[in-house]
Amino acid sequence: MNGKAENMADKSNNNAVVIGAGLGGISAALRLSKIGYKVSIIEKNESLGGKITSFNSKGYKFDRGPSLITLPKHFEELFNDIDENINEHIELIKINPMCRYFFDDGSKIDYFSSLDLMKKELDRVGEDFENFYNFLSIGSKIYELSEKTFLNFHMGKFPSNIKFNDLLKFPYLSSVMSYQSLVNKTFSTNKIKQIFERYPTYVGSAPSSTPGMFFIIPYIEYAFGSWYIKGGIYELIKSLEKLLIKNNVKIIKNCTVEKIQASNNEVNGVETSKGHMPAKIIINNTDVSNLGRFKNKSDKQDINSYSLSGFVIMLGLKKKINLKHHNIIFSSNYKKEFDDLFKRKKFPDDPTIYVCNATATDKSVAPKNCSNLFIMANSPATNSTWTNHEIESARKKIFKNLQKIYINIEKSAIEVEKIQTPNYFMNQHNSYGGSLYGKNSHGIKNSFFRHPNKEKIKGLYNVGGTSHPGGGTPTVIKSSKITINMIKNDY
Ligand SMILES: Cc1cc2nc3c(=O)[nH]c(=O)nc-3n(C[C@H](O)[C@H](O)[C@H](O)COP(=O)(O)OP(=O)(O)OC[C@H]3O[C@@H](n4cnc5c(N)ncnc54)[C@H](O)[C@@H]3O)c2cc1C
Repeated sequence: MNGKAENMADKSNNNAVVIGAGLGGISAALRLSKIGYKVSIIEKNESLGGKITSFNSKGYKFDRGPSLITLPKHFEELFNDIDENINEHIELIKINPMCRYFFDDGSKIDYFSSLDLMKKELDRVGEDFENFYNFLSIGSKIYELSEKTFLNFHMGKFPSNIKFNDLLKFPYLSSVMSYQSLVNKTFSTNKIKQIFERYPTYVGSAPSSTPGMFFIIPYIEYAFGSWYIKGGIYELIKSLEKLLIKNNVKIIKNCTVEKIQASNNEVNGVETSKGHMPAKIIINNTDVSNLGRFKNKSDKQDINSYSLSGFVIMLGLKKKINLKHHNIIFSSNYKKEFDDLFKRKKFPDDPTIYVCNATATDKSVAPKNCSNLFIMANSPATNSTWTNHEIESARKKIFKNLQKIYINIEKSAIEVEKIQTPNYFMNQHNSYGGSLYGKNSHGIKNSFFRHPNKEKIKGLYNVGGTSHPGGGTPTVIKSSKITINMIKNDY
């Protein structure tokens, strides 16, 4: 037996259990099984994917969670790590323009992924291209150092490949000032400022409280593009599920983990709704707010420290809608909207609306000449139950704002309608208060110090959007790489 095979044999004695089959849990299970561990993945729902899930009805296909992919190289790396070619499993399609923004005065701005078209658009609206270039320059410096540190290593490990020059180039001042001030300093026109101010809400946070280092989000989107997966984002999960089976990962669905069992400060198994399962290694992919309950400890959470949730309407319409793939219809009072969300903690009176019109790219996701709209407005995370009255009121506000851009949703055109409130995200995925990204990214501490990938108790690790390095699909895949590297090192 050669050394590699011997090593694999040793590792297969290490029973590993992954709690939760979100993207982070699935990626961790695949990476761990590939290097020889015996892995089981336990999922409380009947399908895998966690927040990446789908809803199909009457020929309409909806992604109920993410609708855009950035940093495809992290997805490619995951497939490469398990000796697969991503192109044989999913088809990534680049979206251009990345988004169409609609403003209250009736004007629109297309956010193009190509610099020449973007320059023309900026010229048209009176924004100096140099300001856009400055944004790319600050963003690239933040990204370069983050890629060599934060995004690829666990907290506390200072990588040896960092050169003094890397540290010198880092825009410290821009990174620690408030994101909103950085936007104001970088751009001169209100509409472009409004477009950029929105990015911290992609991690459920307020632009005024988030540090400037979050310029990394629009930078990454611009530099690496905005992508869609043919057939819908859920196609990714379908292909990964096949690869879990191919790699002998035991998939246990409809099974809830209730407790993590341990003795002498070392894990030895999990107690589930279907009984006990022994494990030497446990990887928690659920919201880290569940850890207290799993460990039988009271762990009081403060809802105010959590990121935003969302209110979603999925509409299958018997007509074509003249929209781009991604669209944002701004509220007429952006400041008041943020105050409603972050200070008054209520669904906004006049919400900004995101509309994903996937049929603009992919006709296969709705019947001929029909549209499958995924419409989402930010909403605070909450532990209260949304009442029917609140649901109807939010729905009315959204339909009213759609009319601002002449999209009238007649009752007769609606073939399918499904609503998701923050309560759905809480109940379906066990996300605290339905928050989509765990703790918010307000302040330096919350932004840089996400929950660690390894717990103090031996054998217990975390992976996913609520642990380091943070939420969003590419980051969650990265989180699995960081966690698996730690496990390789520890066992
Ligand atoms: C509406 C919405 C829109 C989004 N848009 C984007 C986007 O456009 N682009 C992007 O990159 N990201 C987006 N995101 C974020 C992205 O979806 C998440 O960051 C990512 O999918 C989270 O993956 P995860 O590994 O943390 O696990 P999760 O998806 O949180 O999955 C955790 C899993 O654990 C399971 N579980 C929980 N408790 C238990 C238990 N006790 N026992 C067993 N199983 C349990 C849950 O059922 C779930 O399947 C969006 C999210 C949402 C909800």
